Amino acid sequence: MEASPPRSPGRAELLERLRKAVDAEPLERAVAVATMELLEREPGQILEPLLEAAQELGLRGHGREITVSRNVFIPLVNLCRDRCGYCAFAVEPKSPQAKTHSLAEVREVSRKALAAGCFEALFCLGDKPEIAYRGYRAWLYERDYASTAEYLVDACEVAYAEGLFPHTNAGIMSAEEMQALRPSNASMGLMLETTSQRLRERGEAHYYAPDKDPEKRLRMTREAGQLKIPFTSGILIGIGETPAERVDTLLAIRELQAEGGHIQEVIVQNFHPKPGTPMAGLAAPSDELMAGTVALSRLLLGPSMNIQAPPNLSPTSLPLLVRSGLNDWGGVSPLTIDFINPEAPWPELAELEERTEAAGYVLRDRHCVYPEFIRERPDFFESEMLQRLRAATDAAGYPLAATTGGSQV
Ligand code: SF4
Repeated sequence: MEASPPRSPGRAELLERLRKAVDAEPLERAVAVATMELLEREPGQILEPLLEAAQELGLRGHGREITVSRNVFIPLVNLCRDRCGYCAFAVEPKSPQAKTHSLAEVREVSRKALAAGCFEALFCLGDKPEIAYRGYRAWLYERDYASTAEYLVDACEVAYAEGLFPHTNAGIMSAEEMQALRPSNASMGLMLETTSQRLRERGEAHYYAPDKDPEKRLRMTREAGQLKIPFTSGILIGIGETPAERVDTLLAIRELQAEGGHIQEVIVQNFHPKPGTPMAGLAAPSDELMAGTVALSRLLLGPSMNIQAPPNLSPTSLPLLVRSGLNDWGGVSPLTIDFINPEAPWPELAELEERTEAAGYVLRDRHCVYPEFIRERPDFFESEMLQRLRAATDAAGYPLAATTGGSQV
């Protein structure tokens, strides 16, 4: 006789399991998937109890504090060998928007950032553009760099020498490349985005994006743990994934964290349609789906994980997000735009503080690397980086007041 398929839990059972998850009873995959499916189908049936459970768990781990990293966004090069269906960041070399920052420009923007009270230099760039573009490859060779990763090391060192703490997200890197960046980077990151191989099929978001192969992203994230690099991961929602695939992505992050202990934060990012991209006509995920996914992330990843949602991508639903158990707004720049989502302006820091307080929480500055790593994990840093971080933080691991200009949040 054939075994019958596993029973999907009903609503009453889901509510009970969500409550139990608050008291550290791990949420199983079947319960998480059924919750996510119900959230997508009939959000009114599950959203409130989901938020309530997640907010309680978030309060246990982080109290009524939400952090923010005051940064400068440096898109070192906006060429990329991939073609994700939702991306407006990567352009062709002939585009008037194509831009590679020189080291002198990195120095100049770093100085401005320091003067504006920023702590973090966020280096975000396309994935291995030298493979796709001969002209750019020649530009690198003329300057004695064999790859973007090599150039990136020097760029990070410039920002670090100026007094900022770099955090790099350069797509897929080898262990050797991450190791070369480690002395000048307080932390690094790579959005896992999704573990769905299906999204690499024809017509899907990652069809033309070999670097979005989930296996490569899992491999790099795992290696970052072996190298002891405080690491940012995350999930991208609304790019064609199913509720089960969303849950599986979060479970993969949970597993990576159990293995390496290096996942410092998990970003829950919502797809934002951009004109001129293949996915421009797709709807963005609803506010309910976004807040419910943040909440489920909290329940799956536990009270102490840092859970982040970008405030510029959900400007009208910050109160709902606060109730979903997050404890971080990510990087917000007083100086530069969000080059990945140029259509979505950052809130002013003063406005973000006001809105966070209106929701019953306080806003607090953090470095790109989270305080618990600075306080408790010296093995995650080269000695010079640790010394500089400690000199720039209070006993709890939060930044001391900005030394030049810009008021502290
Ligand atoms: S890998 Fe990143 S930069 Fe490249 S196309 Fe995809 S989203 Fe854009």
